[in-house]
Amino acid sequence: MEKFDVIVVGGGPAGLSAAISAAQAGMKTAVIERGDYPGTKNVMGGVLYTEATNEVVPDFWKEAPLERPVIEQRYAFLSKDEILSAGYRDPAWGQPPYNAHTVLRVKFDRWLADQAVKAGVMIITETLVEDLLYHGDDVVGVRTGRAEGDLGAQVVILAEGANNFLACKAGLAKPLRPENMAVVVKEIIELPPEKIEDRFCLEPHEGATIELFGDSTDGMMGTSFIYTNKNSLSIGVGAMVHSMSEKGWSPNDLLENLKAKPYVKRLLQGGETKEYLAHLIPEGGYNAIPKLYRQGVMVVGDTAMFVNGLNREGSNLAMISGKIAGKVAAEAIQSGDLSAHGMSVYESRLRDSFVIKDLYKFRKLMPFIESNPHLLGQYPEILNQAARMYFTADGTPKAQVFSNIMDMMFKKRTKTGLVKDMFNAWRALK
Ligand code: FAD
Repeated sequence: MEKFDVIVVGGGPAGLSAAISAAQAGMKTAVIERGDYPGTKNVMGGVLYTEATNEVVPDFWKEAPLERPVIEQRYAFLSKDEILSAGYRDPAWGQPPYNAHTVLRVKFDRWLADQAVKAGVMIITETLVEDLLYHGDDVVGVRTGRAEGDLGAQVVILAEGANNFLACKAGLAKPLRPENMAVVVKEIIELPPEKIEDRFCLEPHEGATIELFGDSTDGMMGTSFIYTNKNSLSIGVGAMVHSMSEKGWSPNDLLENLKAKPYVKRLLQGGETKEYLAHLIPEGGYNAIPKLYRQGVMVVGDTAMFVNGLNREGSNLAMISGKIAGKVAAEAIQSGDLSAHGMSVYESRLRDSFVIKDLYKFRKLMPFIESNPHLLGQYPEILNQAARMYFTADGTPKAQVFSNIMDMMFKKRTKTGLVKDMFNAWRALK
């Protein structure tokens, strides 16, 4: 049986970052990926954050296959055909050191895998890891679906993404529950670069993102987005699995509903759909984080529920958790302490990082939004109606307009209701 120091299951950003970090610390490391190559199975919106990526591959932007640096981030609240939007734009984000780039994962993950190979990692593709190998309680390797497919390892890092089969088998995680998962569909729509730049007011080297709320998910807790690539747009929408089944939406119907909105239709006009993808996002947050380690095993990225859905961050949490796990694996092997105690450093370092700090900060906010469907249902409507009343110049004196806006708000949501929402939002963020 071939033996490695570290075996990483899964060639997404978490797994590849873990492998790079372990190999850089001198460990004989392999990544096992079920796809034809890393990236084939992976889906993301996808905004890739500079800071985290730079920690794994310094100055990655000089070589990596990136689409556009994001110089503008916009939030849009939809109510039927109306839209109220606000955003922030800084052209300086179009230059190093950047803030974020749009990427297509099929290209980016492949490139990241090449960086892992350069660091000395062996990438084994088209291979499914079916289980972990044990000697007593100690994990000693993995069983793959190939003939004579057992491989030995001192430490196994589970980076299998949202589908946490192995983490469950290892007794670290619980099977996926609909209330912890969002299902998202995404299309890549080809458009000439000049059209993208005209429609989003961009220079050729600039990109923009729009996050949409309200009617785009029929008020369900979820996400919808439009991101600019070099010569395509990524558009996607999704919501919590249980809300969709309760409301009777299919992910595809939700996407068609979004694409039919006048504002969105105009942005996509003339484009040709090149790809259609669907994926799960683990949105359980802090309260659903599984056990992160046991002797000889650590769990990283989506498998560990490291997604900050409110800020659409996932890839950065994946990469930083991977990087930390790879380093801890190397330290444990070097010190000869592969016990659960040796692995526990992984969790304490994560708790000191933004990864768990951010999930902890937002731990009450997601349940608050989910259990108050009127927040994403009613408020976008109220905001749009208030904007329409304010911007309509029909001779009504402005003092009367303000009073009419207040009346409209209190008709849709009582004074007590408004105060309660504000208080509960403040408490959820405390
Ligand atoms: P993955 O990227 O899912 O990688 C897991 C890998 O493991 C896959 O390659 C898979 O093939 C492999 N694998 C699984 N099981 C096995 C096995 N048993 N044997 C071998 N291989 C296996 N995050 C952002 O930062 N910005 C965004 O804009 C953003 N948008 C998103 C939009 C969508 C539609 C979705 C679905 C997610 C989005 N995310 C975003 C989240 C982000 O994509 C994830 O957090 C990130 O990809 C997690 O990386 P990972 O390596 O943990 O998992």
